[in-house]
Amino acid sequence: MNDRILMSSPDVGELEETYLLNAFRSGWIAPLGPDVDAFEREVADRVGVAHAAALSSGTAALHLGLLCLGVKPGDVVITSTMTFAATANAITYTGARPYFVDSELESGNLDPALLEHALGELRAAGETVSAIVPVDLLGKAADYTRILPIAEAFGVPVLADAAEALGASHAGKQAGAFGAASAISFNGNKIMTTSGGGMLLTDDAELVARVRYLATQARQPAVHYEHTEIGYNYRLSNLLAAVGRAQLTRLDGMMARRRAIRDRYRSLLASVDGVEIFGGADDRDDNCWLTSVVVDPAVTGWTAADLSAALGAANIESRPLWKPMHLQPVFAGAQSMLNGNAQRLFETGVTLPSGSALSDADVDRTIDCAARFVEERR
Ligand SMILES: *Cc1c(COP(=O)(O)O)cnc(C)c1O
Repeated sequence: MNDRILMSSPDVGELEETYLLNAFRSGWIAPLGPDVDAFEREVADRVGVAHAAALSSGTAALHLGLLCLGVKPGDVVITSTMTFAATANAITYTGARPYFVDSELESGNLDPALLEHALGELRAAGETVSAIVPVDLLGKAADYTRILPIAEAFGVPVLADAAEALGASHAGKQAGAFGAASAISFNGNKIMTTSGGGMLLTDDAELVARVRYLATQARQPAVHYEHTEIGYNYRLSNLLAAVGRAQLTRLDGMMARRRAIRDRYRSLLASVDGVEIFGGADDRDDNCWLTSVVVDPAVTGWTAADLSAALGAANIESRPLWKPMHLQPVFAGAQSMLNGNAQRLFETGVTLPSGSALSDADVDRTIDCAARFVEERR
């Protein structure tokens, strides 16, 4: 049996090892230290925001971002149903209720017209909507050009879930620079990794100061540690920040590699009717984190699950798109505003090996397997 080919595994090597060892030998082992400060500055500069707080995960960044925007128990927080559970989990941690809005078909991102409709209905029902959390799905930024004016008209702050989108842009601005604040993730499978970690990005100095305070157990500046609020233990360790600094120097190269892999899939499937690369033809602004395809079985005669099974038989990993939150048992009771697109994408989409650590041989093997599958069913 061939070695298993994974969808998106960490792309690390000698550079990361050097940065990590240097941090270790510097003696800054304990949480925080000069690599955390430098990593925050470097990511903030890269994205074009004034401030960044390095945290233990993207989920922690979402949680603290919501708290610092004033989200309270019983409030409603609107998010995209087409996302990873972390987005909705973070909303739930605050005691607020997630409200799921459906997607644009091409991008899977939050549909601005439906968002506006949902805000109108919630206002009419007398609900307090305290934040909107758009998600930049698989590395394509949501349509902030339309979303931000709607949010502003309703007076609701935006916390962008840019966990999947570091390096992507929209209308000339980097993902992570939209809204009142945003969260990015450095989990092991993301476009760059610290093995685990995240960041809260914002232009608001007061907000980032409050995030740092809540992330370090809400310690008041007194020698005996005075506490007047409940805090969290959410900071990123200095050793992991060092890994992140090495990764950041390679971000453009890793994005280019993922794009090159996507281009291989695109040319393979160009001649196959009924199959599209998910996200549309124009992906110039995307970071190409994951490449998925959407299959129309009425045209192809086969389904996304058939392709996935063929890859699986060759020991190649693939997976459906995120199962929408409104279909998840744990959120069964949540309110939502649906158009059917997220469910349709879940049922017809499949995500293919996309990681920048894939070798040329791995990519060739995956493409050959997909090509054989497609040929046999023509
Ligand atoms: C990965 C991810 C997160 C969570 O990030 P972690 O660092 O794993 O906590 C949140 N939202 C989305 C959309 C993600 O893909």
